[in-house]
Amino acid sequence: MKLLVLPGDGIGPEITDATLTVLKAASETFKLNLSFEQQQVGLAALKTHGTTMPDGLLGHASEADGVILGPLDQLSYPPREKGGINVSAVFRVKLDLYANIRPARTRPGLGKVKDAMDLVIVRECTEGFYADRNMHQGNGEFMPTPDVALSIRKITAQACERIARRAFELASKRKKLVTAVHKANVFRVSDGLYLDKVREVAGEFRGVKLEEVIVDAMAARLVRHPGHFDVILATNMYGDILSDLASELSGSLGLAGSVLAGDALCCAQAQHGSAPDIAGQDKANPLGTIASLSMLLRHSFALDGEADAIDAAIGDSLAAGDRTADLIGTAPAVGCREMGRRVAARIAG
Ligand code: NAD
Repeated sequence: MKLLVLPGDGIGPEITDATLTVLKAASETFKLNLSFEQQQVGLAALKTHGTTMPDGLLGHASEADGVILGPLDQLSYPPREKGGINVSAVFRVKLDLYANIRPARTRPGLGKVKDAMDLVIVRECTEGFYADRNMHQGNGEFMPTPDVALSIRKITAQACERIARRAFELASKRKKLVTAVHKANVFRVSDGLYLDKVREVAGEFRGVKLEEVIVDAMAARLVRHPGHFDVILATNMYGDILSDLASELSGSLGLAGSVLAGDALCCAQAQHGSAPDIAGQDKANPLGTIASLSMLLRHSFALDGEADAIDAAIGDSLAAGDRTADLIGTAPAVGCREMGRRVAARIAG
């Protein structure tokens, strides 16, 4: 099993190092014979290769058995013609990593609301409001005149149907509830198409209940009754925003694991971004990326026991009081590197 590791920008190198410490401990303990190759992407690659996404990277990724992708600081990238390519977006579209699976589970003592939650957001991530990936040629965001900016949103029946199927399959193994988030009161055509497809797929899963909630009300309901939800199905932007809300309510955005899952390849990428405000200070929480690694092992290699062991080590560390700064505010905290070591030590026994 060969993994491609792309540390990315900001806190990416720190959290990836801590995750590799855990990966090595898991590989040794469980004799997994995992190997990995690291390559530069993002601002480091821009310096050395003149582009955030060096040539051949897509080929390398598609040949790997799995990918660990760090966060990317796209906001500070130069325009595309000067080498600023959004690697996450290209991976999602070109490698067809269409399902972004984002769980949020309250950790004892860390939840920010009374009600505990254990939910998974299933987010479509190849189209929607993200105009940079919506066109065959050119960019879906453009300015017809200097004072008018337009962005094209794309919703397709095929993408809605396959993401809905992912959500229903997942819910059928969990609490059997899919909450489909939409804004069909305004986007009657595009979110209407999405809802049509969701209802069609729901018909194939008689044991799973479907409920439909408008996205703005969903934000309120998530805060008020987070324990109600099981699988939340959403198009790209709604899922992106709601998942940051859910993960922060469950404890911290820094705890939130996630995978980008296609039918062939899977990529572990934590929910959060490159956190430039704390980059290089050994303050970042690596548990989101470590949890993403566990999801990757489960998803791509059916290594359920090994993934369980990583999840248990994360849970044990938190239960023992190990806290990075995001979990306790400004009080003295465990650093990113040390957090990785502690989780790894629990796996090694
Ligand atoms: P962010 O997620 O990077 O940070 C939001 C807040 O959460 C910050 O205060 C940050 O310090 C904190 N935080 C995030 N991850 C943390 C962790 N692991 N441990 C502790 N604290 C953590 O969002 P942002 O600041 O809006 O975006 C920064 C950059 O990241 C932007 O360029 C944005 O485009 C990019 N981004 C990338 C991805 C991705 O690559 N998957 C996702 C979101 C944002």
